[in-house]
Amino acid sequence: MNAALNVTLYIFSALAGLAVGSFLNVCIYRLPRGEFFSRSRSYCPKCGAQIKAYDNIPLFSYIVLRGRCRNCKERISPRYPLVELLTCALWVGNYAAFGMDGLTLVWDIAVSVLVVAAFVDLDTFEIPDSGIVVLLILGLVTFAPFGGVSWQDKLIGCVCVSVPMLIVCLFGGMGFGDVKLYFVLGLLLGWKKILLVFLLSAVLGAVVSVAVLVKKRVGKRGKNTSESRDEDAELAEYTSGSESFGESARDGEREGDDDDAGESNEDGAEESDVVPGKKGHEIPFGPFIAIATLVALYGGDAVISMYARILGL
Ligand SMILES: [Zn+2]
Repeated sequence: MNAALNVTLYIFSALAGLAVGSFLNVCIYRLPRGEFFSRSRSYCPKCGAQIKAYDNIPLFSYIVLRGRCRNCKERISPRYPLVELLTCALWVGNYAAFGMDGLTLVWDIAVSVLVVAAFVDLDTFEIPDSGIVVLLILGLVTFAPFGGVSWQDKLIGCVCVSVPMLIVCLFGGMGFGDVKLYFVLGLLLGWKKILLVFLLSAVLGAVVSVAVLVKKRVGKRGKNTSESRDEDAELAEYTSGSESFGESARDGEREGDDDDAGESNEDGAEESDVVPGKKGHEIPFGPFIAIATLVALYGGDAVISMYARILGL
């Protein structure tokens, strides 16, 4: 391909990724609140001021405003530029991996859905069904001979992980949203890569669960009994319905988690290692599936052929 055209398409992918990332931030914020279509313009979650178009330029505005609302100076969560940069990187990655091909478009949409699913799952322990539907449509669209995965591979792919996980789900070991995600991703990726996704996500989930458990134990030992009252209050606050969810997901409070500053926090009952889930599980699994899918998407062929070589296939 013409080198100038190639560079132009890279730049286009990056800019489009940033713009879409900005839209994904809106989705992540609004989908769980059911206000996706209710207000057309973005507004500051603290003071309610509408965000002007010139303050809504992806990444650039965050840097210019130094991460604060122009009106009330409330800190804007670093998650916003992070999601924009992440989407940008993924769109560039898709173009690098698939070139000027329909697959690039398919995976641009799919990774965008995964970004939303992962962050909404982090906030609410739910994977939005709208995301599942989009992935299902993509899986069906690519059913035609396209993308190098045969329809047989896709049919096996959509059941080989999701059906066993459905059984695990029935016994309470996994959320139904995760099962649906495995189903639609299996349809997209075929059985080889969805098995890889399953293995990677299980390992990631196990490692992070152990890390969180250890951190919690260490934290508990450090705290004295007088603070345990605060902890109960905090638990009650998090689990008492949708209104407190609105509070906890608010950007200002999220910042502490991102900055990884646990011990310097004296004043607050709001800080905790893990936001307790609605159904007792403490760690959302969607982000692990999303990360594993990206690994399988960009590196799966290499891993699968390596295994095939080891097994002598
Ligand atoms: Zn504000």
